Amino acid sequence: MVKQFFTEEHQMIQETVRMFANDRLAPVVEKMDQEDYFPLDLFQELGELGLLAPTVSMDYEGAGADYVAQSIILEELGRVSPAFALSVGAHSNLLLDNLYRNSNQEQRKLYVPKLATGEWVGALALTEPDTGSDALGMRTIAVEDGDAYLISGSKTYITNSSIAKIAIVYAKTAPELKSKGITAFIMDLDSDGVSRGQPMSKMGMRGSLTGELFFDQVRVPKGNILGELNNGRQIVMSGLSVERAVLAAISLAISKTSLQIALNYSLEREQFGRPIAQFQLIQDKLARIYTETQASHLLVYWALIEIQDDHTKNKEAAASIMFASERSTQHALEAIQVLGGAGYMKEYQIERFMRDAKLLEIGAGTTEIRKLIIARELIKEKTG
Ligand SMILES: Cc1cc2nc3c(=O)[nH]c(=O)nc-3n(C[C@H](O)[C@H](O)[C@H](O)COP(=O)(O)OP(=O)(O)OC[C@H]3O[C@@H](n4cnc5c(N)ncnc54)[C@H](O)[C@@H]3O)c2cc1C
Repeated sequence: MVKQFFTEEHQMIQETVRMFANDRLAPVVEKMDQEDYFPLDLFQELGELGLLAPTVSMDYEGAGADYVAQSIILEELGRVSPAFALSVGAHSNLLLDNLYRNSNQEQRKLYVPKLATGEWVGALALTEPDTGSDALGMRTIAVEDGDAYLISGSKTYITNSSIAKIAIVYAKTAPELKSKGITAFIMDLDSDGVSRGQPMSKMGMRGSLTGELFFDQVRVPKGNILGELNNGRQIVMSGLSVERAVLAAISLAISKTSLQIALNYSLEREQFGRPIAQFQLIQDKLARIYTETQASHLLVYWALIEIQDDHTKNKEAAASIMFASERSTQHALEAIQVLGGAGYMKEYQIERFMRDAKLLEIGAGTTEIRKLIIARELIKEKTG
């Protein structure tokens, strides 16, 4: 695979995570899928390896690396378990990278080290029952009360919601200002007034726990405002773009695993006295998966480099995950076809990757919303 984006440090991280994924994660993937089981012990082991906070500086228990490193970690985990990669991504990127970038020194000292080591799990709470794609139309409100805000409302489809200690919660502090009246809060989910729904049952990404959060006048000190009052919109938007660029690596991982499973099987399985890899219609699938996977790889790591120093590279991030996610669903389906009946059975695991792949066309903003972002920016660049 293409290596030109990777430094020596990146390659070391890649080897460490690959070993962890093969030795520690692979034995539990079936249990995760069957029982919707999240291996918290492995999450914490990843913290001990220093891999939960790649973009946080070493002063705060991070690795002091970059988004390429973050995505290498998700890609290597995702090659074995996209679900585990998703939960790690929600913690490390949606919550921790976002919190680290936007927090003041006091907040960093209080929250970042425990999240970086995995002692605390984190979540990001943006989506609500009535506002998904229209995320800025959120209904959750925060009302000033002395030195605090009282937050009321609910969030849904939140990754890690049942196990997280800390969440970034977006709420309207000035509803009359619409999207310009949003504020980001750091919330301790063990606070009075917070309740959590049961994990929701999903078609894929099983083992990554997804659920609802309900807030009934939850008291959050003013000191827990992330960034500035009524400046949450900018945090939402830049956070979403970084999230798209980083999570695209999970789709890339699914494409790579699909190719590996299809190629291995096609060399072993014989029909009409020959390995099926010798049939040109099978070769067509292998060639297509390989070529599009290479294209995904280039696009994903290019977008990560683009977004590293400019979190407003919305078009690049949207293009990367749009392509990688759509292709990965198709690659997993093609790989199932290469395996025939065996592909439909759980034994070869490719059906799990197909179920997992679909999520990346929906979470972090849907394919349709990504297309709107790309087209809108293209038009703006041309017309000013
Ligand atoms: C497993 C999982 C994990 C998730 N994790 C998190 C998390 O950790 N934190 C969080 O905040 N959220 C999370 N989400 C929520 C996710 O970001 C939303 O599901 C997503 O943004 C889509 O919102 P929706 O589901 O309400 O769909 P809707 O917005 O209701 O969209 C329904 C359909 O309408 C289309 N559509 C909507 N608006 C337009 C438009 N203007 N033009 C064209 N088509 C349009 C959509 O593309 C889609 O096809 C998660 C979701 C899932 C499934």
